[in-house]
Amino acid sequence: MDKLAIVVPCYNEEEVLEIASKALRQVLDDLIGKNKIHRESFILFVNDGSRDRTWELIEKEHREHPAQVRGVKLAGNVGHQYALTAGLITAKDRCDVSVSIDADLQDDVDVIEEMIDKYHQGCDIVYGVRRERKTDTFFKRTTAQGFYKVMAMMGVKTVYNHADFRLMSRRAMEQFALYKESNLFLRGIMPTIGYRTDSVYYDRKERVAGESKYPLKKMLALAFNGISSFSVKPMSMIMWAGVVILLCSVLAAVYALISYFTGQVVPGWTSLILSIWFLGGLQLIATGMVGLYIGKIYMEVKHRPRYNIETVLEKKTDEL
Ligand code: UDP
Ligand code: MG
Repeated sequence: MDKLAIVVPCYNEEEVLEIASKALRQVLDDLIGKNKIHRESFILFVNDGSRDRTWELIEKEHREHPAQVRGVKLAGNVGHQYALTAGLITAKDRCDVSVSIDADLQDDVDVIEEMIDKYHQGCDIVYGVRRERKTDTFFKRTTAQGFYKVMAMMGVKTVYNHADFRLMSRRAMEQFALYKESNLFLRGIMPTIGYRTDSVYYDRKERVAGESKYPLKKMLALAFNGISSFSVKPMSMIMWAGVVILLCSVLAAVYALISYFTGQVVPGWTSLILSIWFLGGLQLIATGMVGLYIGKIYMEVKHRPRYNIETVLEKKTDEL
């Protein structure tokens, strides 16, 4: 029987913590009752430097339910992606399979069972995907969907409408731990791990209590980080803009020369306008090219694993 760890990053979640703990303990009990997970499965709360009573509540939950509730306290606020990473890396040596979920219970805890079923059918990563976003405000919905579109345009492989509600097997967590980069964008990393994956669908609910810890500023930072960590396309876009402007400089030259010979110009205008277009284009190309090399250096210094071997078939020979 496999041991499940439910990893929950928490930042200033005093209003929801006890509710979340209760709901998730119920999920564990149900799954244990149905013989789908090990009796020693647990919830791992990661306190991401909360400034409220979150940690005291986690300690209290742990005191009352020592077997089922565990906690990790980070020394300061590092943000959702890093808090979740800390949780997954802590959990990976203590469980066989993990499910990550937000503390606010916006993601449907009832599909965890479906995730576990898919895991038993051989999936290593199961994505929780939102069916629709009725409960999100118009603003959040459009910005979030714009985010997935821009990511796709930039060539970053992500699962559409999947946030960080996901099941990972132990070997998927182990492979994930090999990604040593410090700019983490989990939704971009997970699809590069490989293995068999699947999705479960659910309707996203309202926050149980408290308010969003992801204001627009943090969302933009996440989007920018996602793009810049996975794509050097912005650089090549700059370079291509340079090429287009350089081509335009030919048209500008024709126009400037015609104006010059028809004598309708102020002295000096022709040479000025020609230099502006030509040099502008050239400069953009040069900047873009430098950027592309920096992009390569950036990708190299991440030291990402280049592949993930799943199985090796070989005949075992007797030891010499
Ligand atoms: N969170 C975190 N650190 C932060 C911000 C958020 O650990 O700096 C956690 C938060 O407690 C929650 C999850 O990340 O469990 C998602 O945050 P939230 O629900 O506020 O985001 P939203 O659903 O509004 O996008
Ligand atoms: Mg939320």
